[in-house]
Amino acid sequence: MQSLLYSIIEANRSWTRQGKVANYIPGLAKANPEALGIVLITTDNQSYAAGSHETPFTIQSISKILTFTCALMDTPFAELSKIISLEPTSDEFNSISSLEIKNTHKPLNPMINSGAIATLSLVKGDSYAERFQRVFSFAKLLTGNEALPLNQDVYASESRTGHRNRALAYYMKSTDIIHDDVEELVDAYFRLCSLQVTCHDIARIGAVLAGNGLLPGSETRVIPKDICRIVKAVMATCGMYNGSGLFATSVGLPAKSGVGGGILAVSPNRMGIGVMGPALDEKGNSLAGIKVLEDLSKRLDLSIY
Ligand code: GLU
Repeated sequence: MQSLLYSIIEANRSWTRQGKVANYIPGLAKANPEALGIVLITTDNQSYAAGSHETPFTIQSISKILTFTCALMDTPFAELSKIISLEPTSDEFNSISSLEIKNTHKPLNPMINSGAIATLSLVKGDSYAERFQRVFSFAKLLTGNEALPLNQDVYASESRTGHRNRALAYYMKSTDIIHDDVEELVDAYFRLCSLQVTCHDIARIGAVLAGNGLLPGSETRVIPKDICRIVKAVMATCGMYNGSGLFATSVGLPAKSGVGGGILAVSPNRMGIGVMGPALDEKGNSLAGIKVLEDLSKRLDLSIY
């Protein structure tokens, strides 16, 4: 397995030059566009790594999985369904038009920005500081990384420039999806996007989902099985933004990407996969990261379809 991972990383390294590092959040522009790494963690807790697997990056939209999972655990499904849909979209991840034109009463899914911001309001807590802590603690539990840091530079940068996300949240307040203080809500959202992870951290989150809610190599349940099923289904249909359909045909795994360059993929009952490559394609997904996952899926016959 180890040598397979080395060869897949080397074979796909040149793709990093075809993509572009995100710069709409200035703090992200500092990432090395040539970095490319992978970690696999099996449900029985074997791990394998290759490439820039120790290079830190911010979790960005991969945090949407954590927020959605907490919301499903904290709010009855019928309540949650009143606030968000679970339908894929062909619009960009930070689109406002779908809220206004297509689905006025609720955001399309929890894997795009509007949906994740609304989902955060369904996490248990008396304040957004508490809701942030709830998801942050859950992130530490799933990654097994008690020292999980917040990248202050990226957080400050997004907080300074994240006006589209504020606009989405204020729009949802105007349509009664959100009832809370928008600035507090988006601040918690920005903090969650700024958690600094490695491929290992996100692979371990994937391994918990692959094991239907058990920590890898243990009988310790941290997510109910039914909730894992919902999360994986939404990842499979919506997790790669408006590139989810093509990704399903070429890789065939539930996955979630982030503009920091990470992709978390889940091979059900087998393993979690964490890939990083900050050079992105035009949809905001790691370009070389997708190529790595395509190769891995072919070589190990991982597609669920
Ligand atoms: N923090 C980013 C934003 O809200 C997350 C986007 C992403 O990773 O898709 O724009």
